[in-house]
Amino acid sequence: MTHQTTCCYCGVGCGIVVKQEQNGRLSLEGDTQHPSSKGMLCSKGMNLHYTVMDQSDRLLYPQMRLNRSMPMQRVSWEAALERTAAVFRTFIQKYGPDSVAFYVSGQCLTEEYYLVNKLIKGFIGSNNIDTNSRLCMSSAVVGYKLSLGEDSVPVCYDDIDEADLFFVEGANPAWCHPILWRRIEARKAANPNVKIICIDPRKTDTARSADLHLPLRPGTDIVLNNAIGRLLIERNYIDNEFITNHADGFLAYQEQVRQRSIEEAADICGVSVDAIRTAAEWIGRSKGFLSLWTMGLNQSVIGVNKNLSLINLHLITGRIGKPGNGPFSLTGQPNAMGGRETGGLANSLPAHRDVTNAAHRAEVEAFWNSPVKIAAKPGLTATEMVEALADDRLKAIWIINTNPLVSLPDVNAAEKALKKARFVVVQDVSNRADTVQFADVVLPAAAWLEKEGTMTNAERRITYLPKVLDAPGEALPDAEIIWRFAQKMGFGADFTYANASEVYEEYTRITAGTNVDVTGVSHALLRTKRTIQWPYPAQSEGSGIGETGTKRLFTDHRFYTPNQRAQIHAVPDENTSEPIDEDFPLVLTTGRIRDQWHTMTKTGRVAKLNQHSAQPVLQIHPEDARVRNIEEGQLVEVRGRRGHVRVKAQLTEDVRVGLCFLPMHWGKMPAGAPGISTLNRANNLTNSLVDPRSKEPDFKFSAVEVVAY
Ligand code: SF4
Repeated sequence: MTHQTTCCYCGVGCGIVVKQEQNGRLSLEGDTQHPSSKGMLCSKGMNLHYTVMDQSDRLLYPQMRLNRSMPMQRVSWEAALERTAAVFRTFIQKYGPDSVAFYVSGQCLTEEYYLVNKLIKGFIGSNNIDTNSRLCMSSAVVGYKLSLGEDSVPVCYDDIDEADLFFVEGANPAWCHPILWRRIEARKAANPNVKIICIDPRKTDTARSADLHLPLRPGTDIVLNNAIGRLLIERNYIDNEFITNHADGFLAYQEQVRQRSIEEAADICGVSVDAIRTAAEWIGRSKGFLSLWTMGLNQSVIGVNKNLSLINLHLITGRIGKPGNGPFSLTGQPNAMGGRETGGLANSLPAHRDVTNAAHRAEVEAFWNSPVKIAAKPGLTATEMVEALADDRLKAIWIINTNPLVSLPDVNAAEKALKKARFVVVQDVSNRADTVQFADVVLPAAAWLEKEGTMTNAERRITYLPKVLDAPGEALPDAEIIWRFAQKMGFGADFTYANASEVYEEYTRITAGTNVDVTGVSHALLRTKRTIQWPYPAQSEGSGIGETGTKRLFTDHRFYTPNQRAQIHAVPDENTSEPIDEDFPLVLTTGRIRDQWHTMTKTGRVAKLNQHSAQPVLQIHPEDARVRNIEEGQLVEVRGRRGHVRVKAQLTEDVRVGLCFLPMHWGKMPAGAPGISTLNRANNLTNSLVDPRSKEPDFKFSAVEVVAY
């Protein structure tokens, strides 16, 4: 038997055909009918079935304990949810609704996101739900909102086939979005005039393939983008018609970018004047200018401004809403976009509504028939939840399908905060999630292939994931866990669903009339059409919207801002990251490696994937190593203001002098996991500074020193 589904790792969202043999064995291959991936899969996707067949780490039964000095006891679902509801009710009555919180994941399906959001915002009365997407996408969200009026990716993957200039800034798609990258490589191979510019302080595989690599100093992207903007204006590569008719803010921007000469910008960025001039010239002359970015721009204390400075280049040149052109924020997780559509951030409501907007709150309250008023104040974001647990403002936290004790910045502080939490619920697939050891209640969740629902990939493409297998033990789909819990909380009349399709149908109705309108989409339709790109209102077929949705946004150059004009923002270019000094003179940046995913709870169990990089190493420039008497392969201690890490050193000119790099995947795991310990957890070193608007952490810039150990 074969089933079409979607890879559950990254935001590329590749289609997979799963084959189920009669003996129960699974095999898989790329789905040639999937328009996003056309049959291709990367190493992680090709080995995904092994993570399903190996059930050795699965959580199988609900467990709980009365205090954390006691061992966990297996209990019934009834007992686990009854107790959790009793504790939540007690805290809410005694300390108010903001005493509880949910921390969810970009790997949750849309239906799950929607239900948790509905429960806490519309029925408990708190906006305390945030997602690990806060750690990767929130700066792009705010950037899009400020410039285009809404969190809306304007482009699609087919634009790759029409672009002739790829501007990749703060991203390594060759490793982190491999199938998208293969499409770019194919485009270049077929068209020798196609150019790739890579902006990255590290010489990544993407940088190696680029025609022009600008290895800028960390934190100087805005200086560089503004310098390119200045040259585009001076060389008259701007689109005056677009600016006059469709954009505001050009004069202030022009004034801003004139404040630094190209020579001064080159000096600050640590790149050559010629390289900046070449980049501007190539952009100016191109017919299709597609920019792609991820964490290098987003995970920054100035992440929103970095995003704006890049989007500005599209707005001054009018390169948006046209085939092959546009600013393309690459999504990290498989359903980060779907989660945002349902309002799964602490400041948003379904269909890109905002909690601070009274009209939006009223619409959603009426739709949900909420027994409470939706709070007007944004809830706690990911790092704010840590602070609130530490000072006891937050009493209870429910963590769903994410492993914050490896992934949060300044993770030692996060660990202390979780220890102090009065009540912790962990809902997960795997007992390898580090949070399990701090849990009062553990709820076993169904994994990929064991539940149905939808996800939205980086090009606004919604796909349906069927249930193929029964979950082991007593594990339940996440959506069912939430609706059962809501029933225990006394909200049964509004949380009675027969299946995830009913949840999705309700979600689509709340999108009616919005820019994310998917009232024409249903599980049944997705089973037939396979994928649909939003928006896709009811009666879309034959209405001018493509049969499978909307490929490209803003083709009429009417944006989602109140005056329908795009907003060019003049942004300051100073970096406000943690300062380096004599004690901590190096900048540490963290990131992903090719064959691992997040905190390795899945990919770390696949032998083939561990062959690429069996353990984390610190990449350091030979010059920085020489002055510290560090040799290749030597054990070093990386020291920061908040903690330290011990790993082997790799001497490489792939990082700039003054910069070092650690992968973010490794960390503390339950006893028995070989070769894994808290001493190689990169986030021991990262800081908890966040962008003031997006609240996204500054993972790419922490001050450290490295010593031979
Ligand atoms: Fe999965 Fe991303 Fe690889 Fe595609 S590129 S197979 S979605 S991990």
